[in-house]
Amino acid sequence: MSEENKNLEYKRHTLAHLLAAAVLVDYPHAKLTLGPAIDHGFYYDIDFSAGDAPGDDDLKKIQKHMKKMLGQWKSFEHEEVSAEKAREVFAGNEFKLELIDEIESKGETITLYTAGKDTKAEFTDLCRGRHSENPAEEIAADAFKLDKIAGAYWRGDEKNPMLTRIYGLAFDTKDELDAYLQQLEEAKKRDHRKLGKELGLFSFSELVGPGLPLWSAKGTTFRREIDRFVTELRKEKGYELVTIPHIAKKALYETSGHWQKYSEDLFKVRAKEGDDHDEYVLKPMNCPCHTQIFDSEPRSYKELPQRYAETTMVYRAEQSGELSGLTRVLSITQDDAHVFCRESQLREEIEAICDIVDSFYSKFGFNLKLRLSFRDPENAEKYLGENSVWEETEGMLKAIAEDRRIEYFIGIGEAAFYAPKLDFMANDSIGRVHQVATIQLDRMLPDRFDLTCVNEQGEKERIVMIHAAIAGSLERFAAVLIEHLAGNFPLRFAPVQLAVIPVADAHNDYATDIYNQLKDAGFRVEIDTSNESMGKKIRAAKKNKLPYFIVIGDQEVENKTITLESRDTESNESLSLEEMIIKLQTEAA
Ligand SMILES: [Zn+2]
Ligand SMILES: [Zn+2]
Repeated sequence: MSEENKNLEYKRHTLAHLLAAAVLVDYPHAKLTLGPAIDHGFYYDIDFSAGDAPGDDDLKKIQKHMKKMLGQWKSFEHEEVSAEKAREVFAGNEFKLELIDEIESKGETITLYTAGKDTKAEFTDLCRGRHSENPAEEIAADAFKLDKIAGAYWRGDEKNPMLTRIYGLAFDTKDELDAYLQQLEEAKKRDHRKLGKELGLFSFSELVGPGLPLWSAKGTTFRREIDRFVTELRKEKGYELVTIPHIAKKALYETSGHWQKYSEDLFKVRAKEGDDHDEYVLKPMNCPCHTQIFDSEPRSYKELPQRYAETTMVYRAEQSGELSGLTRVLSITQDDAHVFCRESQLREEIEAICDIVDSFYSKFGFNLKLRLSFRDPENAEKYLGENSVWEETEGMLKAIAEDRRIEYFIGIGEAAFYAPKLDFMANDSIGRVHQVATIQLDRMLPDRFDLTCVNEQGEKERIVMIHAAIAGSLERFAAVLIEHLAGNFPLRFAPVQLAVIPVADAHNDYATDIYNQLKDAGFRVEIDTSNESMGKKIRAAKKNKLPYFIVIGDQEVENKTITLESRDTESNESLSLEEMIIKLQTEAA
């Protein structure tokens, strides 16, 4: 972590203490539990069960106390204490007592941290440190804000009591806080759950189950176009489509290691009640099945690389509490691909995937940054494989990033335990960063499944695999794209591309003729012959975010021209139908 990030984290952590201190002013019965720094701010989990609990309306008041106390917090001191002493200080607070027992049983030292010693704002908490040394000086009183209240189980376990979690936002400066608040406001307007509903792309059904999105015809059109785009880009690089079943024997996942590692998250399938000979698993990933296509016949080095692509669903049993919109779902559609190649072919294959990623994301106006996810050499024992192989592979990935002149940074400790990764981060239009495509090297599955080719010497040679989803999960990508573009999809991906709007009944015939010709030319087009006013029809087309609409009135019927109006620009051109079709086809390609 950089020095700058560390300072901000210390500030946020300090503010969690300040929040706790401020809460005690009006709620002396409150039992404090834990309060860490998080992305964008901090929170504190508090038990109010012994008396009144604050609501959203009380946050202002608590914040006021915080600001007042901050001025007196000119120091943050600590003291090592015995477990007995700590138990005395926190007598009656079963949460802190539990923490003290834990620290004691691990044989660690117990420290109490006191801010604003010998002032009216003096406050002591059980903590490990990492605070601002002089909060009054370092923390800007206008750069933090209490945000919201939520419920949270003690230590995240639903068997434990429910606590009140108070969230705060905190930055170095007021400007940064304001910019973030504005981003939140904008994100709310673009929320994919809201826009997805308005645009009629997907829905959920209680009866089907949470986390299982149902895609409408419009949503399916959008997904299909995304998939086609990826497939086209891959085809240029020699990928072929394959198809696997949605269930496979438990033994497959025992060989791959998923069974041992992720058993809890797997959906298990049994054909007959009481029959435990053949336990099946709903596939959580596609790689194990793809290895079996590769291994279905002996492979000569001449046949390599084999490149398999398949857009298909995988299923993972996330906890239902975590499911939200399209970003966390149980049925995940991956535009998955696996390359089976020789070590000597790795670099070329990775570069080809980088090309696909570039073409794909630039189409939607994302700026990409690359994270080189490397191992932590200080914990080398946590990783599988020889040091020299790691060093060589990481060196190659870095060389690729440098040659391609892509902006990159190194994520130490972000590698998988068996190989480094390339993780692409996309900056969206409102300044948020999303992790999108990943290129993952893999020497572990080839080992586990004993995948080889016969080399020039006629010997068996261990091959290497690359996992390379481009959009990643179509659900998550749809969520990111909807919010990035505020639902204004490019022509090619829009579920409905244009609407024909006759001004009055008298124009319906000509409008229908235009509509039919556009349909025949392959466009996804709608005609609005309702009795609504023209203004209302145009507003409906705009609300549905159609890239274009065409208004047909007297003039158009008489001159046999069409005026194409755009969602994105003010321009409206008068064209012949043939000219317009060519223009739209060019744009959609
Ligand atoms: Zn602390
Ligand atoms: Zn894979």
